[in-house]
Amino acid sequence: MPRMESLKGVEVMETMISLERALEVVLQRVKALGVEKVGLGQAYNRVIAADVQAPMDMPPFDRSPLDGYAYCAQPTDKAPLTLNIVSEIPAGTWSEREIQLGECARIFTGSPLPKGANCVVKQEDTERLGDRVRINQPVAPQANVVYQGEETKCGDIVLKVGDYLSPAAVGLLASLGVEAVEVYRRPKVGILSTGSELRDVGSPLPPGKIYNSNTYTLKGLLLEAGCEVKVAPFVEDDLGETIEALKTLEDTDLVVTTGGASVGEYDLIRDALAGVGCELLFWKVNFKPGTPVALGVKGERLYFSLSGNPAAAVVNYELLVRPALRKLMGRTSHERVFPVYMDGDFGKSGKQRRFLRARAVFRNGEIWADPSFAQGSGVLRSMRGSHLLVDVPGGHGPVQKGERLQGRWIASWEED
Ligand code: AMP
Ligand code: MG
Repeated sequence: MPRMESLKGVEVMETMISLERALEVVLQRVKALGVEKVGLGQAYNRVIAADVQAPMDMPPFDRSPLDGYAYCAQPTDKAPLTLNIVSEIPAGTWSEREIQLGECARIFTGSPLPKGANCVVKQEDTERLGDRVRINQPVAPQANVVYQGEETKCGDIVLKVGDYLSPAAVGLLASLGVEAVEVYRRPKVGILSTGSELRDVGSPLPPGKIYNSNTYTLKGLLLEAGCEVKVAPFVEDDLGETIEALKTLEDTDLVVTTGGASVGEYDLIRDALAGVGCELLFWKVNFKPGTPVALGVKGERLYFSLSGNPAAAVVNYELLVRPALRKLMGRTSHERVFPVYMDGDFGKSGKQRRFLRARAVFRNGEIWADPSFAQGSGVLRSMRGSHLLVDVPGGHGPVQKGERLQGRWIASWEED
């Protein structure tokens, strides 16, 4: 039975649950979005929504993988073999001239093999004698031929539902002449930052105020994940204002808010979510940083209320929002977890599970995680350059250098 708790008048189904339970609750509620057909130029980073069958063979004809001479090799051929050159076949051309025994065609990389030829000998192993060629090392029948359909046969399933359209996947479709594909719709995600201390860049900063950075960080993460983003102007810690702002995001598929998520008198986001008609499925997940994350749901739309703390908000996003987005986008693969060795200590020990930000270092073919620079007070500053989250179980005690723990990527290697 879910635990019912009444918090400041708002009913929350579950509280202080494990990350795994929270993910279960999130993923139970997420369904992949609708499907649309897009041209290849728009297909990057999308997810295939209907299996794609190859409409043709690739390559579409038997072809030469190198510059040389195509001829009809016999198992009894002896060196040297001298042949008459009867045709020349540059790439992109087609020759009807059938090759007979004693004949060959001058051929190039990517050119179609002429009828009658069963091999290609490379130019480096031949000597040109006017309109004849001497083959110093005859090759066996079938040597150096790329056969029609060798890579892909007409009718092969080349991409399946849930496959991600990487640059190579889009290129593969192009190679098969596929012009457009069925993909899942791009999620439209709303962002709302809350906090009376916030100001936007470009405006002066009175005492006690800070610039709103969460909106910018989250927008970047969402764009990178392939979402369409709608930003609501940030609001003060005011219930009415927050409710009005949330209402402007009802044309989205998912909403992410930051701030006002904790226990103080000005932490109003859960009341605001209830105010727009959300059911609150959980509040507080048992990990640090970012414990007071909450999930609301209204119809099909999920509302993630993330911590206002800039680094905690990113950790919340990585651990809970990203998996939801992946499912919304139709992706079927899972986040990858892998072992890392600690490249530094982390002294604090606590009852709560903790995700340490760390820089990844490759050493001796292993991934080492350096957490030393990343946990400091310049939280957002040190988020830059963090590649990993290292999972330190609750009650683990101080983390020692050399220890083996589980890690997961949060940034690509390009981000240094
Ligand atoms: P809260 O979740 O409202 O308790 O905020 C936690 C901390 O994060 C406080 O120090 C806030 O000032 C800070 N904070 C909240 N929202 C933002 C934001 N949008 N950008 C930068 N810092 C924020
Ligand atoms: Mg606040």
